[in-house]
Amino acid sequence: MHARDFAAESLLIEEEPYYQPVGSEIALFEAAYASQIPVLLKGPTGCGKTRFVEYMAWRLKRPLITVSCHDDLTASDLVGRYLITSNETVWLDGPLARAVRCGGICYLDEIVEARKDTTVVIHPLADDRRCLPIEKRGEVLKAPKEFVLVISYNPGYQSVLKELKQSTRQRFVAIEFGYPEAELEKTILMREAGIDARTAEKLIKLAAMTRSLKGNGLDEGASTRLLVHAGKLIARGVEPRAACRGAIAQALSDEHDMLVAVDELISTLF
Ligand code: ADP
Repeated sequence: MHARDFAAESLLIEEEPYYQPVGSEIALFEAAYASQIPVLLKGPTGCGKTRFVEYMAWRLKRPLITVSCHDDLTASDLVGRYLITSNETVWLDGPLARAVRCGGICYLDEIVEARKDTTVVIHPLADDRRCLPIEKRGEVLKAPKEFVLVISYNPGYQSVLKELKQSTRQRFVAIEFGYPEAELEKTILMREAGIDARTAEKLIKLAAMTRSLKGNGLDEGASTRLLVHAGKLIARGVEPRAACRGAIAQALSDEHDMLVAVDELISTLF
């Protein structure tokens, strides 16, 4: 029985990811990292959290292991399990164990989606113990100082079931993400989608209108991600209204009345 070989080098991000800083998030992350404190990224979907982690992994030269959490994700999925092959039983590290072993960044995206038993395994890693017990192997991995646990969480869902417990959240340094302010979002859109300033400005106006509908018919406003999508379609020659309908309106809602309303907003701008 042996732990499978695993090439941490393959998880290094070689090229600098484009990340537009929006506040003091880089300094905050670096200080937390140096202090071996785990990091919680708070904010709505599509506002740059994943891109930020990729950028920090590149900047700190650490391998990045990302797990998108879902409601079937168990502690074993994170820690690892025995696999029975034709003639032997092998242990396969899960992503969390791999990240601990190689001193990487483990990014658990949307942690509240995961099953409750996953918190049991992240807690000892997220406090001074900094260890990962692997019960099935009777092994306790001590995290090297380079390891950092990063989780993300969208407080906007406002469902008791989707809340992060105090005992979990109080172990982390929290960095809040929101939609970037207009000038920065414009820079991001021009760079990411390859569109001109005027088109970017219109998309941002449209986004602001949908964002004000949050809680009034929309669960979320248009994220930067959706604007980038619409911008990319426009840059490829798709008619702007059709691009906004497909990439923004339809992505936000299925409700007929809401789609009509967003469509009107689109028509006033494009
Ligand atoms: P989240 O992880 O918060 O859901 P992402 O990091 O995937 O969101 O961001 C979605 C997209 O928005 C990215 O792929 C990128 O194109 C763009 N984006 C958002 N914020 C930034 C930023 N600050 N710098 C560069 N790109 C950004």
